[in-house]
Amino acid sequence: MDDEKLRAFFRSLDRSLFVEGGLKPLAPLDRPLPIGFGQTVSQPTLVLDMTAALELDKNCRVLEIGTGSGYQTTFLAEFAGEVFTVERIPELSLQARERLARLGYSNIRFRTGDGSLGWAQYAPYDRIIVTAAAGSVPPRLIAQLKNGGRMLIPVGPPGLQELTLVTKDENGAVGARALYAVTFVELVGDFGWGK
Ligand code: SAH
Repeated sequence: MDDEKLRAFFRSLDRSLFVEGGLKPLAPLDRPLPIGFGQTVSQPTLVLDMTAALELDKNCRVLEIGTGSGYQTTFLAEFAGEVFTVERIPELSLQARERLARLGYSNIRFRTGDGSLGWAQYAPYDRIIVTAAAGSVPPRLIAQLKNGGRMLIPVGPPGLQELTLVTKDENGAVGARALYAVTFVELVGDFGWGK
């Protein structure tokens, strides 16, 4: 993935498209913002860093858990081949779908449901990104990661997690290492936080 292209895209993408009304003037600030339903969109530099850590290319099939506003989804759609994104709150999923369609992306499939179970129909995925905090890495997400693939997932209690990079080598051996501390809202669902 070309770092310069990623940075240029980051600078060109207006985050105010992903928040509502009175929050729009705050969009350029490097801080999380509310997106309704008690959820938040991350600070832009974190989205940039997580996108870079995924090492995307146009051959990648990506699974995203936690569509939220669709801001992170836009980076995935821009730099990966196909994006499959799951959100549990129907209103957020619909809103993101409309935003991404308006921006002209046609390589994204949206689903409303429990993403802690992954999305088996289109597995395996070259990349998986979870933008909500899990107590441990949901087993079905590991199962749906392709050999040679990478997954980013915040692991830890509400309030403070370790952004964890999970890798699967060509033989299917799974490794994990913590990258840095992050704060995400909780992943709920069958394999969500506290499960
Ligand atoms: N990446 C998003 C922010 C996500 S906030 C953005 O760029 O805006 C985390 C999102 O994860 C919330 O929208 C929340 O509803 C969703 N979520 C939490 N648990 C989930 C689950 N089990 N399955 C799917 N989505 C989930």
